Formats: sequence, C-alpha cells, structure tokens
Amino acid sequence: MFEKVEHIGIAVKNISASIELFEALLGAPCYKKENVETEKVTTAFFRTGETKIELLESISSDSAIAKFVEKRGEGIHHIAFEVEDIEREMIRLKGKGFHLLSEKPLRGADNKMVCFIHPKSCSGVLIELCQEIK
Ligand code: ZN
Repeated sequence: MFEKVEHIGIAVKNISASIELFEALLGAPCYKKENVETEKVTTAFFRTGETKIELLESISSDSAIAKFVEKRGEGIHHIAFEVEDIEREMIRLKGKGFHLLSEKPLRGADNKMVCFIHPKSCSGVLIELCQEIK
C-alpha cells in the first residue's frame, strides 16, 4: 500500500541558485544536501509539513537528470510515494503490468531504498517508491 506522497522531485540546472529560491519560497531551510553517485545527481531536501521537496541537479552529462533538463528544461521530475514494504509493492505492481526501472530496490537519497516506475506506464509521470532504511 502507498502511505503518502513522501516528496516531489524537481530537476534544476543550478542547485545553489534553486536552494536559495526554494528557501525563499517555502520559508524553510534546506536540511540536507547529498550526492547520489548511482544516479549521478546532487540532491537538496526541504520539509513542507508531511511532504518534502527534493531538488536534483545532474553531476554528469549522461545522467537521467541531465537528459531530462536538456529535453524538457527545469521542472517537476517525479513524485515519490512512501511504502511500507518496497519489495512487496514491486511484486504487486509488476503483476499489474507496470514497468519497473530496476529489478531490485536501489539505495536512494535521504536514507531510502527506492524503485522507479517508467512514466510510460503511469500517464507520463515518473513514480518513485521509497522505503526508509531502518
Ligand atoms: Zn526522489
């Protein structure tokens, strides 16, 4: 079962400039900045009540974020849902015909195991499942 929208991921060109912008917008400081080597991105997180905002800047020209920004410009990149048991959800969704982007959960930012669902199987929206590592 999906618990809640855990965060919304926004692709940006310049994370320092966007951190400043989102701090001004949200009235809250960025509480974590972290590189995710497997995804070749720098991430920055903000809290807004129960949901977070994740900014993503590419650190390599061949990353998924670099390609996204090149094709579509800055903007909303994915919606992440918190799940209780990511492996169980992956099996459930696969059984329903959703196209998962990895066979196993991967280590994501912010102390999470994550898995992405291809936008083609979700009305054009990239969906992330995430489960906190305890
Ligand atoms: Zn995310």
